[in-house]
Amino acid sequence: MRSEIKQKLLKFNTFRRIVQFLSFIFFSAMVFNLGSLPLLFPVLWTWGIEPNTVGDAFTALQFMLYNVVFPWLAIASFLIVGVLVGKSFCGWVCPFGFVQDLISFIKRKKMEISPRTHESMVYVKYAVLGITLFVSVTFSVSKLMGSSRGYESALGIFAKAPFTALSPAETLFATLPKMILGLRNSVLEVPFLEVLSGIADVPLLFWFQLAIMVAVLVFSAYVPRGWCKYFCPHGAIMAILNKFSFLGLRRDLVKCAKGECRLCVEACPMNVRILDLPWEKFSDMECIYCMKCVDVCPNKAIKLKYP
Ligand code: SF4
Ligand code: SF4
Repeated sequence: MRSEIKQKLLKFNTFRRIVQFLSFIFFSAMVFNLGSLPLLFPVLWTWGIEPNTVGDAFTALQFMLYNVVFPWLAIASFLIVGVLVGKSFCGWVCPFGFVQDLISFIKRKKMEISPRTHESMVYVKYAVLGITLFVSVTFSVSKLMGSSRGYESALGIFAKAPFTALSPAETLFATLPKMILGLRNSVLEVPFLEVLSGIADVPLLFWFQLAIMVAVLVFSAYVPRGWCKYFCPHGAIMAILNKFSFLGLRRDLVKCAKGECRLCVEACPMNVRILDLPWEKFSDMECIYCMKCVDVCPNKAIKLKYP
């Protein structure tokens, strides 16, 4: 029994959960009034709470383009993290990734996604990235040329941050808590019936944002890291950079029981085809370095490789 507990504690994933939890606290540190830090991270967070301890690089990129500023800070954040540690921030730091990991505990039986569907669905996130960049860049150019007024009114709330306006993380971490807090305050101040009639005045956009957030969270309960694999534009950028990262994994051919066991492949939340990748070093575009494959291998055949 004691050795079982010891073995569990020594797993990478026990340590990863602790790091994810501490990162989540750090991101929400405005609760402890830590103030803002001049840091941008390539993870899905929110800009809707003040003061924000750290910023999310993709929202910063959209804001900078809106203000006609070259987004070098956001690009630097993606490049530095991507090259040094690949997509590991998705596995260890991202607050929305953490929420998905917690949610996936609810539903033990997962939905089977066929390899073919998976292979096609992974491209959806590049479409989300492409549409966002298209809107932000064209808006920036039109503003630079002094002809943005009509475009801005046509885009409405999507002019400033086309992706973040509908991001499930923005709704979960900022819009919804603010709404609940506002409702709670009104319940204390005005009669209940008036509060109910106030709900009817909530903008349609909020219900749309809420529907997206709920759909994403339910999907993630059935499909591990469903949002990350298929829809997240941060994940799309980091997937490209993962190819050029110093970080990778190595599978020892002598220790690996390949044909007899596929435990690592089954444990992988990102559907990485570990056994088909080069054994010397692999850094698949989708790998978030969650280390589940390392923990599950009974022969200790998979290890980190750096550089
Ligand atoms: S892919 Fe997932 S873990 Fe990575 S930034 Fe997006 S939500 Fe976060
Ligand atoms: S290959 Fe291993 S480390 Fe990478 S995502 Fe899959 S289980 Fe996690």
